[in-house]
Amino acid sequence: MATGNRLDPWVDTYATRTRGMTASAIRALFAVANRPEVVSLAGGMPNLAALPMDAVADVVDDLVRTSGATALQYGSGQGDPVLRELITEVMAEEGIVASAEDVVVTTGSQQALDLVTRVFVDPGDVVVAEAPSYVGALGVFSAYQADVVHVPMDADGLDPVALEETLTRLQAEGRRVKLLYTVPNHHNPGGVTLAAGRRAAVLETARRHGVLVLEDNPYGLLGFSGDPLPALRATDAEGVVYLGTFSKTFAPGLRVGWALAPPGVRDRLVLASEAAILCPSAFAQAAVAGYLSRHDWRGQIKAFREQYLERRDAMLAALEDHLPTASWTVPGGGFYVWLGLPAGLDAAAMLPRAVTERVAYVPGTAFYADGSGGSHLRLSYCYPSPDRITEGVRRLAEVVRAETELIDTFGAAPGATGRGPAGDAPGPDVT
Ligand code: PMP
Repeated sequence: MATGNRLDPWVDTYATRTRGMTASAIRALFAVANRPEVVSLAGGMPNLAALPMDAVADVVDDLVRTSGATALQYGSGQGDPVLRELITEVMAEEGIVASAEDVVVTTGSQQALDLVTRVFVDPGDVVVAEAPSYVGALGVFSAYQADVVHVPMDADGLDPVALEETLTRLQAEGRRVKLLYTVPNHHNPGGVTLAAGRRAAVLETARRHGVLVLEDNPYGLLGFSGDPLPALRATDAEGVVYLGTFSKTFAPGLRVGWALAPPGVRDRLVLASEAAILCPSAFAQAAVAGYLSRHDWRGQIKAFREQYLERRDAMLAALEDHLPTASWTVPGGGFYVWLGLPAGLDAAAMLPRAVTERVAYVPGTAFYADGSGGSHLRLSYCYPSPDRITEGVRRLAEVVRAETELIDTFGAAPGATGRGPAGDAPGPDVT
């Protein structure tokens, strides 16, 4: 008989791993940030207004009428072979030559993160990750009781010298490092891209230390200028598990992503996925396959890029106009700007005032496993209209001004983590 308490009779019964499962700061925020009067610069929702809904409706309609009996049936654990073949064409855009045999379709790339971690990480193993890192990946690592060790980034992404030092130190300490988790393109939340000249060094360092690279790439095709850089996986088929998704280039509601993995890893990912979900949604996969084969998906991605570029420009212009006391990264694609607050300000402490002023963001602490990052925050420009973005930044600037006045009058709150004049920023900082 569980002892528990009156609120939850099962409280003494949960597995130890549930202690690592906490509500993400973003989820807690959604309730307030979604009110219409709030300009939400918090979520990472793609702007689907650019999608041709009639064309999508035709694909889905045909799918049910002509192939309903298979599309609504169970499917293969590894994923539909037709879609896997199409996925290899998508990855070719970033220089990846791969066989559909090595693709595992997942329920969004979030499930791929879960499967890779499940297959590799025992409690106490180390995952090395950028500082800052995608909050959803940190949630997975924590659920599997990994120890996350952060490596700094700068305007050119992950710093290979710091990576070398960190891996050498961890090795000397006898720690087992299982994964290097990286978002090389248009980083969430850092807004930076791993420079072409650093890519070989990152791969070589990971290889020398026997660490598998987990390359998470939802934003690679959403660059604002030039061709996408070759993926890490393009030059290393053995040492990289590559994750992709249709969430940002088509529609997140379908929940279709994938992992491309070396054969041994691939087999284990399929087993782990079958144990978790039997098979990914046959219906969602057929809808994506139908869309890719019947629609100009490359042209659609171009339309998305144009939409996001306009929004990014609105955000950068508003920051220049209203927040000259802050610093921020200048993203070359993707959805996010990483903003450093003036000295003494704390993004989490400032959030209630921001929501009262009808603007929302994500405090930087959400993107660190060690509680740092309070001097920074993430702004997303993907969803609101350019006008709303400008208004949101104007409101944020008011909040920053009021908080600064408070600090000038009463001093910083104990534990406030502002960047300080020396610029001890925990992430990429470029104004
Ligand atoms: N990785 C990164 C870096 C992300 O930004 C996201 C979505 N915000 C995901 C993975 C998960 O995306 P999905 O499960 O929709 O493919």
